[in-house]
Amino acid sequence: MCGIVGYVGKRDAMPVLIEGLHRLEYRGYDSAGLAVISRGRLQITKTAGRVQDLRDKLAAKAGASSAKTGASVAKPTIGIGHTRWATHGEPNEINAHPHTDTANRIAVVHNGIIENAEFLRDQLQASGVHLASDTDTEALAHMIAAEFAADESATLEDAVIRTLRKVEGAYGLVVVDTKNPDQLVVARNGSPIVLGLGNSEMFVASDVSALVRYTKQVIYLEDGEVATIKATDYHTATVTAGGTESSGIKVPTTVDADADDYELGQFSDYMRKEIHEQPDAIRRALRGRLEERFATARLGGINLDARELRNIRCVKFLGCGSAYYAGQMGAALVEELARIPADAEPASEFRYRSPVVDPDTLYVAVSQSGETIDTLMGVQELKRKGGQVIGAVNVVGSAIGRECGHGIFLHAGPEVAVASTKALTNMAVNFALLALLLGRVRDLSSANGERIVNGLRNLPAQVSAILAEDEGISTIANRYADADHMFFIGRVRGWPVAREGAQKLKEISYVHAEAYQAGELKHGPLALISPEMPSLVIIPSDELVAKNMSTVEQIKARGGPVIVVTSFAELPDTIADVVIRVPRAEPELEPILLNIPLQLFAYHAAAKLGRDIDKPRNLAKSVTVE
Ligand code: GLU
Repeated sequence: MCGIVGYVGKRDAMPVLIEGLHRLEYRGYDSAGLAVISRGRLQITKTAGRVQDLRDKLAAKAGASSAKTGASVAKPTIGIGHTRWATHGEPNEINAHPHTDTANRIAVVHNGIIENAEFLRDQLQASGVHLASDTDTEALAHMIAAEFAADESATLEDAVIRTLRKVEGAYGLVVVDTKNPDQLVVARNGSPIVLGLGNSEMFVASDVSALVRYTKQVIYLEDGEVATIKATDYHTATVTAGGTESSGIKVPTTVDADADDYELGQFSDYMRKEIHEQPDAIRRALRGRLEERFATARLGGINLDARELRNIRCVKFLGCGSAYYAGQMGAALVEELARIPADAEPASEFRYRSPVVDPDTLYVAVSQSGETIDTLMGVQELKRKGGQVIGAVNVVGSAIGRECGHGIFLHAGPEVAVASTKALTNMAVNFALLALLLGRVRDLSSANGERIVNGLRNLPAQVSAILAEDEGISTIANRYADADHMFFIGRVRGWPVAREGAQKLKEISYVHAEAYQAGELKHGPLALISPEMPSLVIIPSDELVAKNMSTVEQIKARGGPVIVVTSFAELPDTIADVVIRVPRAEPELEPILLNIPLQLFAYHAAAKLGRDIDKPRNLAKSVTVE
């Protein structure tokens, strides 16, 4: 969460920082700010608004100062910027980052939570320091300044390391110092930091999207590392109990995304763009991974041979939010195709409940960003207990991918909208591949394997066919967008679809949506059915069609409006107020298709309600705080 950007080099730092913040805004957007060093002093601009407000404020400032002096001033070539997702103190201008010490020597931007902030702030106040903000971050700026007061000969890196030794919690941070105006010091512990290597210039950011337009050569910092970055060189070190240790020569990674991947193109927002990118995203996930001849899948990244795959007794998916629901889809696929017990659990629960770790279980840590802190902590707990864990991530070089060491790369391409669409779809597609592979080393016949291979091959065209109905689904969503509450109902294969659909509607439209298993309705929630409570019922083409039709009848009998989403072509239009149809797929793969209209439904309902679709309130992409 939260976007961090830094620059040191030869060009005007301001546009680089602003551009970077725009790219990172999806990671946090309740306020923004930047600091540059200009003529030996910190120049700070902050706003309680969005990055665009910051840009406007800077433009107004620049206009006013050039009118006053009439002269052009040398452009600053070093600076840091931040877009915030508040954890300590409300999102106002004072709490916006960067934060400084009292003398305005040091400026800090920070991503994460300092857990002993209260203690540190009390200590600072007791020593006479005035704290301007309510944040945990501000304490860091004062503490770094205090390190210099205690030891004038300290380097900026020394002062930062000494400060961090007193800090508990998670951080990704970047520090500038007016007395060391040629360098940035960065540190990582739990929140991502990536360095971008340029030609006589260096960049730093919390995610590569801010860097790709300037450089493709990046270095991911590890937890516990610090780095000092200058225009023409940098070094990294690992903080140890006694001091620091060089972290050796790091080989830069080449980023495979382009600046264009982050452009909106013909679309008005990223969510709609990403929904429409799904056929291509699925094709990418399947490329080179289907073994036609043996009717199985090839997943090079998981490093398990047939014998090891056979020894897996159980599969457990761990993820948060949509990644958890995708894990539920994955668990169903594994049980159906491989006939081994499989299950999904929110990583946020798993990590705290002292889980029994079974060495014969394959754990799959699912995260679009690969940085989700709860999932990462779950992985670390698993490793401590000798569990076998693979990652399923969309961002190469991300913490979960590196921590697991092997896994499945999702190939969805960059996902910018906070609400996940194509990453979720690609999770489910990749889990179908995993399930196929696990099935084929067991009892899944080659004929059945072939059926799934063909089913997977058909998905991109089938998703395109659903997307062609975008306008029609928009009309339906407009009709229901004013509901205060909605039920999403599913049974067995439809159940994770219902959960994901309800989640999507909640997060971007703020309509209260609740998912329920169809069979559970009569055990309580049926009491809520009324003409004001629409239900969206998922009906896959499986042996449960008749059961699902009875559920629809039960809702209708109580006056509840019903929207059905189905692949069962024989279902009459009269079954519900509205029937949204999707093509029929192989039954095990149907959840992937049934989910697509729900994305469009949520999108259009949110659009009708005038919501900020890509940046829903209170949320942010890439949840790196607990
Ligand atoms: N804890 C810090 C704050 O509340 C940083 C939050 C963030 O990651 O944006 O300001």
